[in-house]
Amino acid sequence: METQGRLIVDVARLAKDGEWFRGETADNLLDLGESEFVTPEGGMCYALKVELIGSELLVRGEVRQRLTCVCSRCAENFVTEVVEPEFVQSYEINATTDFVDLTEEVREAIILALPGYPVCSESCRGLCMTCGTNLNNAACRCHEEGKDHRWAALDVLKTDLDASRSKRARPREK
Ligand SMILES: [Zn+2]
Ligand SMILES: [Zn+2]
Repeated sequence: METQGRLIVDVARLAKDGEWFRGETADNLLDLGESEFVTPEGGMCYALKVELIGSELLVRGEVRQRLTCVCSRCAENFVTEVVEPEFVQSYEINATTDFVDLTEEVREAIILALPGYPVCSESCRGLCMTCGTNLNNAACRCHEEGKDHRWAALDVLKTDLDASRSKRARPREK
């Protein structure tokens, strides 16, 4: 199926009752552009049944891609795999169609399956907002006194606001 690492079906050579194609495309066909958080590892993997039904080339199966992601909570790298288990695509075929290139549709299916906020594990505890400690590896002392320091700045702001409000309110209180 592959020509120069892309996913190309040779329509004339396709078996009458369809064929399964399994393999991996060339590296970096996924091409995520400038993404700093997701990097493809190797090519896109596919297991696709391709059949010609009338004037339609029907492609069904599974596509997957290994990735290195940056965890959106703890900022550590981790390796994962995204899978689209129900890839379906059809292509109009006419008498002059020799080859059909599936690469772009497979690429889109994988991009749609990418996590918006990758996490290394559902139980990842992330970084402390105050001191930056990775809470998966170590505890920090920021929250020990029963007060959440993230709100400390907000508390000061609130106190100031309350003070200025009561100042303004005073003349009316006669
Ligand atoms: Zn994490
Ligand atoms: Zn901390």
